[in-house]
Amino acid sequence: MYDKIFELGKKRGIVYPSFEVYGGLSGFIDWGPIGVRIKRNVEKLLRKTYVHELECLEVECPNLHPEEVFEASGHIKSFADYMTECTMCGEPYRADHLIGDERGIEVEGKSKTEINNYLSEIKCPKCSGDLGEAYSYNLMFETSVGPGKSKKTTYLRPETAQSTYIGFNRLWQVARRTLPFGVLQVGRSYRNEISPRQGMIRLREFNQAEIQFFYDPNNMFVEGFEEVSDIKVEILDKNEQTHKLSLGEAYREKVIGNQVLAYHLGVAYRFFQSIGLPGERLVLRQHREDERSFYSSDTWDIEYISGELGKIEMVGIALRSDYDLTQHAKYSGKNFSVTTENGKFTPHVVEVAYGVDRPIYCLLESCLDDRGFALKREVSPYDVCVFPLVKKDGVDVKAREIYGKLKKEGLSVFYDKAGSIGKRYARSDEIGISYCVTVDYDTLEDDTVTLRVRSDKSQVRKKTSEVIGIL
Ligand SMILES: [Zn+2]
Repeated sequence: MYDKIFELGKKRGIVYPSFEVYGGLSGFIDWGPIGVRIKRNVEKLLRKTYVHELECLEVECPNLHPEEVFEASGHIKSFADYMTECTMCGEPYRADHLIGDERGIEVEGKSKTEINNYLSEIKCPKCSGDLGEAYSYNLMFETSVGPGKSKKTTYLRPETAQSTYIGFNRLWQVARRTLPFGVLQVGRSYRNEISPRQGMIRLREFNQAEIQFFYDPNNMFVEGFEEVSDIKVEILDKNEQTHKLSLGEAYREKVIGNQVLAYHLGVAYRFFQSIGLPGERLVLRQHREDERSFYSSDTWDIEYISGELGKIEMVGIALRSDYDLTQHAKYSGKNFSVTTENGKFTPHVVEVAYGVDRPIYCLLESCLDDRGFALKREVSPYDVCVFPLVKKDGVDVKAREIYGKLKKEGLSVFYDKAGSIGKRYARSDEIGISYCVTVDYDTLEDDTVTLRVRSDKSQVRKKTSEVIGIL
């Protein structure tokens, strides 16, 4: 299935490896012309959820940050993975992946000594040599800004969140000094992964959408929780117990410890359903005590159960307390506290961190049928295709005219006159376009067209004006 997705992805301009003519570079992908349209639609639905419905502010900040930012955030010290190298052939490995592959053991959160113990029992998969000691490798790409004396060490951001925190005081003014408020940032992030694999799942340059919700820790109740409380979900808790509950029940039974988290899990779940991900493949997973960051009191992921790649984390939702604002206050010497009717305090943060590339992969996997990607209209690359049956006798002129009318209605329309009509339907099915309009000789007589629906391949004859109404 994975191969099929990439084969179609390459063939139809959805997604393909970057720098292909120079042999490619692992961990980088190009979104092709069709893929960009799908991605934009997914981002549009994301903005509908967070900017339109939850009234988040949106910012766009630089990808390069000076090193002070990551000294404060802790990334310079601790944003690292353990590596090992073969003492015989020199092949580098990411320790957790190697131990996972060879022994089936999850080592996230384990100490360096424990990791070395596991490594001592494993041989190099390439040459069967002994593996060296584990060492820490920082995942940030380092570069510099400016020449000569003014040269400054900078890093490509490994997450969008830090620049949102740094701008807090300006955002607080825009939010009219009222809590809670959320801030969305959609953009690129960069991680120099040791061994990127699985195409779109672990990338070195990737798209993120992160929302920081600033709130008063003395008020953990959320307006609008009822809107998501009936959503039924599957939960895997920190003790690896499974629950099937509604979010309201999960909150009342303390499976999800507070309303802020339960609410944001519900919003994210609803967003994934809105792009077309099937609920039965989604699991809300609570992080175990030993995998959570020290500053977070509770962290959850929504995972997609892939047919082939196991569990794929699509969003992480974490209570980050006042850690980030306090760190930036300490390192910058600036004040990040607020004064409200509840006194003076530093706001707490719940972070909702989406990957954008991963959910789209999951979506492509989940909607793949025998004809291609059965995408929902809301995310499909075009609303409708227009095909002239033949390229002569004025049929093509009429088709162009109808194409223009549909575009004028604000629809996204793909015009295709190349190849047999069957091939054109097949191409349109592959990239998940819900409707096709075919223009033929009868159209010239009575202004009717054939409207074909992807889902059941049904065809109906209708007046052009009716078709515009339907679409
Ligand atoms: Zn080796």
